[in-house]
Amino acid sequence: MQYISTRGQAPSLTFEDTMLTGLARDGGLYVPETIPQMDAHTIAAMAGQSYEEIAYTVMRPFVGDTFTDAEFRGCINRAYAGFGHAARAPLVQLDQGHFLLELFHGPTLAFKDFAMQLIGQLFQTALARRGERVTIVGATSGDTGSAAIEAFRGLDNVDVFILYPHNRVSEVQRRQMTTPVEANVHALALDGDFDDCQARLKDMFNDFEFRDGVKLAGVNSINWARVLAQVVYYFSAAASLGAPTRKVSFTVPTGNFGDIFAGYIAKRMGLPIDRLVVATNQNDILHRALSGQGYHKGDTIPSISPSMDIQVSSNFERALFDAYGRDGGAVAQLMDELKAGGFEVSQGAMQALQDHFESGRASEGETSQAITRTLADTGELLCPHSAVGGHVAANHIEPGTPMVTLATAHPAKFPDAVEAATGIRPPLPPRMADLYERPERLTRVPNDLEALKAHIKEHRAK
Ligand SMILES: *Cc1c(COP(=O)(O)O)cnc(C)c1O
Repeated sequence: MQYISTRGQAPSLTFEDTMLTGLARDGGLYVPETIPQMDAHTIAAMAGQSYEEIAYTVMRPFVGDTFTDAEFRGCINRAYAGFGHAARAPLVQLDQGHFLLELFHGPTLAFKDFAMQLIGQLFQTALARRGERVTIVGATSGDTGSAAIEAFRGLDNVDVFILYPHNRVSEVQRRQMTTPVEANVHALALDGDFDDCQARLKDMFNDFEFRDGVKLAGVNSINWARVLAQVVYYFSAAASLGAPTRKVSFTVPTGNFGDIFAGYIAKRMGLPIDRLVVATNQNDILHRALSGQGYHKGDTIPSISPSMDIQVSSNFERALFDAYGRDGGAVAQLMDELKAGGFEVSQGAMQALQDHFESGRASEGETSQAITRTLADTGELLCPHSAVGGHVAANHIEPGTPMVTLATAHPAKFPDAVEAATGIRPPLPPRMADLYERPERLTRVPNDLEALKAHIKEHRAK
């Protein structure tokens, strides 16, 4: 299995190199050259299998020779062992044809644990074999950073530095980054906002001397291995609701388009998905684009679902690549136009996108109401991101086809929005109830490239 760049100008790579590289050298994103197929018999068999077993079946064909069967199974088993629910991704019924896929039982209470926990194990296994050590630097508005620190803490071949905007992440998110005690993980509170964190991260990757010197690696949401890990729960959910005999639809609270793109890959692999619905908050560039209004950047407006507050959805490039007939030149040109503000999607590509994706948006008021209403109707507390999904899903449910809304975070991770909508302050799950008592460890850093580089060089293991 080889991986090719969406911009057509970078060499094709194996799974291992794709995973360790992240972004292609031509600025593009790696996608598999071909999509492995799952036949009806294989999908039907998943109905009675463990999450780990399904994960192995779904992901194995994408990995090629990078890992032996036993290594890959070991990585999967270690990745999900720390989850707080035996089913890993349990389904809860909300209404006759509406289900919630709870993706928040991992160690940091958001779906990002599914991918990050696995790539922690995959990185460790590949690097140990190569006898290499890398430095992972990431920028976060909250969920990615906590998931990365949790996934890589204590691993031998990685140092992790996470830049987050000082005083601009929730207390739960901050504590999840600052309370792990292992020496190889570092929470850096940057004097600036999330855009500053991302800009300094980009500067570091563009500083080739530094990049090569510390063996810089990235684990942001464009990393193919992260997308791949997320394909699994579409299979596990659909199989337990009757696939392949019955079609299933999904609504996905969307920011960077990674999670929904994983659903698209599941569909391309043969999973009978009827509708894939993109749900955005008021930062609705994707909803506008999928409604035929072009892909144009606006200003990010802070919302109560902050993990979806984006201007540009990086993984959308992968969907565009397919919609434009895998023409890397065409994608490269669109991305140039995007730098200048945006682009129109051609009629043929629009048709191709609309064949797979529907969309909707939830305003702040609609998000709050969805939290309130879901509690009244079902007794379930939704986090604000999941509530965006719930609101949009309600407009896309069709009789006879189960709709699955992805619940992307635990309500206790965003307690203020949940309390405002319901009067209930959701408690942390018992296994992490002492989070507020654990000592914190963080370093304040200036919004300055040279200072950051010096800090990382000094504090990584030599
Ligand atoms: C990251 C995140 C999202 C958005 O996922 P994408 O893959 O970026 O579309 C939604 N909800 C929560 C809670 C998240 O952490």
